[in-house]
Amino acid sequence: MEFTLIAMENVAFGYRLGTDCTEDILARLASHDASSYLVVADTTVAGLYGHDLTARIDKQVAPAHLLIHKVGEPHKSLSTVEALAHQALEQGIDRRAVVLALGGGVTGNIAGLLAALLFRGVRLVHVPTTVLAMLDSVLSLKQAVNATTGKNMIGTFHAPVEVLADTAMLRTLPAREVRSGMGEVIKNALAIRPSMLDRLGGSLRADAAYDDETLQWIIFESLAAKALVTAADMHERRSGLVLEYGHTTGHAIEHASRGAVAHGAGVAVGMIVAAEVSRRLGHAQTDLVSLHRELVAAAGVHPAVPADADITLVKERIAYDNKRGYLDTRPRHTPMVLLKAPGQVLHTGVLPLVPVPLALLEEVVDETTAPGAGPAAETTAA
Ligand code: NAD
Ligand code: MG
Repeated sequence: MEFTLIAMENVAFGYRLGTDCTEDILARLASHDASSYLVVADTTVAGLYGHDLTARIDKQVAPAHLLIHKVGEPHKSLSTVEALAHQALEQGIDRRAVVLALGGGVTGNIAGLLAALLFRGVRLVHVPTTVLAMLDSVLSLKQAVNATTGKNMIGTFHAPVEVLADTAMLRTLPAREVRSGMGEVIKNALAIRPSMLDRLGGSLRADAAYDDETLQWIIFESLAAKALVTAADMHERRSGLVLEYGHTTGHAIEHASRGAVAHGAGVAVGMIVAAEVSRRLGHAQTDLVSLHRELVAAAGVHPAVPADADITLVKERIAYDNKRGYLDTRPRHTPMVLLKAPGQVLHTGVLPLVPVPLALLEEVVDETTAPGAGPAAETTAA
């Protein structure tokens, strides 16, 4: 099958999506006329695809070098970027080199920052291999790594020249990672693109075994949703903030579980919390909350704060959300993205944020715990 070029307004780079497209990837790479290719991958993805792809680029296109980093968020650091930069320079590369990010969001950020720094900026091509990377991280111009004091603290903006996504690469992705991506898909549908809710509801699979056609549709719709809100806001500081739906509690759960809960699974539960908060503030109806729970459960994520996340830590962490500062909130309040109904986001001025009393948010988090008691679990069982 061949790549389809996805048209995205106001997005400066091409996004090509297909299934079983290795030949097309090579053809697209050749069109960039690079002096060499630096393929960046983590150890897992290097083993699955990196060695093969690098060998084929080297044979058919131009000299190619595989730069491998260790798997996982703790290795998304400046020291990883520095080590890869030295390895790249030792190969004698020049400024016509292209950095190819082959992997998930972690690799995308490491390679993205590497591309921004080498010779003060070389071209970057993304070949995403996770659902999350295909529909979320590759669209962002933000390229950052973690500091000891927090996530994504050291970085810059650097746009890719092209994204080449092949859903065949998702066949090896563990179910946990597929479900994490689906958390962001559900977010896009609920907060931005309610027109996809019907088909999505019928397509979600608890076992996370999706066919290529469904994956292509889901990715296509998510790109459309993201493009809609970031078109006039590439730096995600205004309308793009709606992409933070579910992330206040989601990030806190992810953090409090020390990585045991995947990002998108945390976001999925975070959206249920946000919907319940909106209901208690009198903005949303009960059916919005039930719709959230149904979709999250259908994607194979338990619709409650998982036992892996220490609830006291979750509640501590929500107070440190990165949306603080956007609104001039009163003490013990935090800005959240809230919905009135699917696709209807509440605003304060031009910002898609509402100040929420922390006491209310903490109460809802407490009641959304697994398993058993509390309104979240009860309604799901019903
Ligand atoms: P990831 O890159 O760590 O990948 C998840 C896991 O899947 C890893 O263990 C990886 O080795 C494995 N994997 C990847 N592709 C595979 C495949 N095809 N088959 C088998 N295993 C595979 O994580 P992620 O979830 O893709 O991305 C999360 C990261 O993305 C976070 O660091 C987050 O900060 C970042 N992110 C950045 C932006 C941005 O604005 N730039 C946006 C969203 C997320
Ligand atoms: Mg996210």
